[in-house]
Amino acid sequence: MTSLDRTGPQNGQDPTAIRIAGVSKTYGTYEVLKGIDVEVARGEVVVICGPSGSGKSTLIRTINRLEEINSGAITFDGQNIHAPMKTRDLNRLRSRIGFVFQSFNLFPHLSVVDNVSMSPIRVKGVSRDVAHDKALLLLDRVGLADKATAYPGQLSGGQQQRVAIARALAMEPPVMLFDEPTSALDPEMVGEVLAVMKSLAKDGMTMLCVTHEMGFARDVADRIWFIDAGEIIEKATPEEFFTHPRHPRAQRFLADLR
Ligand code: ADP
Ligand code: MG
Repeated sequence: MTSLDRTGPQNGQDPTAIRIAGVSKTYGTYEVLKGIDVEVARGEVVVICGPSGSGKSTLIRTINRLEEINSGAITFDGQNIHAPMKTRDLNRLRSRIGFVFQSFNLFPHLSVVDNVSMSPIRVKGVSRDVAHDKALLLLDRVGLADKATAYPGQLSGGQQQRVAIARALAMEPPVMLFDEPTSALDPEMVGEVLAVMKSLAKDGMTMLCVTHEMGFARDVADRIWFIDAGEIIEKATPEEFFTHPRHPRAQRFLADLR
């Protein structure tokens, strides 16, 4: 696998990658996020867990503005993500925050290499040749060098999700967000996707991962946020979280997983 150049904090750079301050969001009268205050340091890997319907997807979708917020602020590299801005600026901002969905979302009519090289060509104006060469390196990195000319429908779920990760990486985002990237996969394919995520983490990528894969959380996360009913009620290291969860609801959540 080729290595990406991802470095930690550099001289003079704000060590905080993402700041979420007092973020609330309602759907009608239903308050789905209730004053979220958290920060993610550069190079940090955060696993977000919590019961179904607790607001995990909503929270990470607000970070690249797939969801609007009602109050509070989210800054990324010092930039207010929810400030009014032109569509072009929003798209540019979004391209710097990679997002991997539960349901891959590849373009079925495009080959794997075209899926991976499309955004650099369209958004960044990279030439087709350069974008393809880069895509091939990324496909090699996720273990799919031999699938460049295949179409998504010819791949397994695990392979498609690895293509989706390569596609997000093609924009060289300093941050990657994952929303249950292995939940739609057959159990035998979960490991290959987690292995790619693990290698990214090892290279120093800043990552927020919503996942129920507690083995991954234990091995890879620097911090765990436990969210329940729209509030982050526990922030802990994996060691603290798995051995002494403080909040009764976190204790119950972990007991139910076993
Ligand atoms: P999680 O990812 O933790 O399962 P979500 O963030 O998807 O939770 O959803 C949190 C709550 O918000 C759920 O009760 C869900 O039904 C509700 N919700 C999510 N999206 C919408 C929407 N577009 N309109 C209304 N309610 C929504
Ligand atoms: Mg969700």
